[in-house]
Amino acid sequence: MRLEIKAYKTIIDNLRDGIYFVDQNRTITFWNKAAESITGFSASEVEGRSCSDNILNHVDARGNNLCSGYCPLAATIEDGISREAEVFLHHKDGHRVPVSICVIPITDKLGNIIGGVEIFSDISSWVVNDLRIKELEKLALLDNLTQLANRNFIQRELANRCEEYNRFGVPFGILLIDIDNFKNVNDTYGHDVGDRVLKFVANTFTSNARPFDLYGRWGGEEFVGIIRNIDEKQLESIGNRMCRLIENSYLIHDNHNLQVTVSAGATIIKNDDTPETLIKRADGFLYVSKQSGRNRLTVG
Ligand code: GH3
Ligand code: MG
Ligand code: MG
Repeated sequence: MRLEIKAYKTIIDNLRDGIYFVDQNRTITFWNKAAESITGFSASEVEGRSCSDNILNHVDARGNNLCSGYCPLAATIEDGISREAEVFLHHKDGHRVPVSICVIPITDKLGNIIGGVEIFSDISSWVVNDLRIKELEKLALLDNLTQLANRNFIQRELANRCEEYNRFGVPFGILLIDIDNFKNVNDTYGHDVGDRVLKFVANTFTSNARPFDLYGRWGGEEFVGIIRNIDEKQLESIGNRMCRLIENSYLIHDNHNLQVTVSAGATIIKNDDTPETLIKRADGFLYVSKQSGRNRLTVG
């Protein structure tokens, strides 16, 4: 059976994975439907542009920008070797989406490299989250703006986790996260843009949370993450990763990148802790992060 080119295009468009082709200059020549839904960018917005041109802007877990430094696609076009990696791409709404990527060289009939393909799968926990959103909405435990759990729900969860710790010894930690200088964002760009920033920060938490962790909106521009079954070192690593992901996220506003940073305080449950003592301790460490320059995590 020989398929027409159109048939191949239909197949590629119906895959769940995002796929795009670039030529030797890394100009995007094809962008499938899944790439549109994972990134928020339509084919017409990206075809003809360079993939390093403020579109996907992959970063690694340490926040290194792969488009201006080490780019797996550029390396594959250079040496013809396929590569795989886990990176975080920029969604049009601003948040970071974790994806697993695979890049492959494209060759002509003679075997010369004429471009590359990147195939990427969304590895965020949206499926779990969609169910959670519906459930929370029913019970009035959802924050409507960010679609995160609201303060009421976080308080209940903290009480449950404390109980679980006292009865079964299952440890957990919390992250108290506050956007830095957020008042400036509202004052400079207006409240609506401030709201969009709150949403992309929230989406970065949701997309990058482990399935059993919970992120909620504590109030205003403050968020709480409940991170289950971990020790202090792992909590520190998760907290730092979130700080780096937010630092490397941006909204495109009036042709420039609007970025924010967050400060955070983190702590692990101890004997005799209550939800109130936990939050209070995390708040103390958040204060230390603010005092020592912002855009950082303090753990204790
Ligand atoms: P710091 O780095 O010390 O945290 O400074 P900050 O400016 O972030 O802190 P401050 O508490 O002075 O300001 C928080 C701002 O968050 C003030 C308030 O108007 C804004 N805010 C709270 N809730 C919302 C909201 O739902 N939408 C928008 N756009 N702004 C909000
Ligand atoms: Mg605050
Ligand atoms: Mg703040």
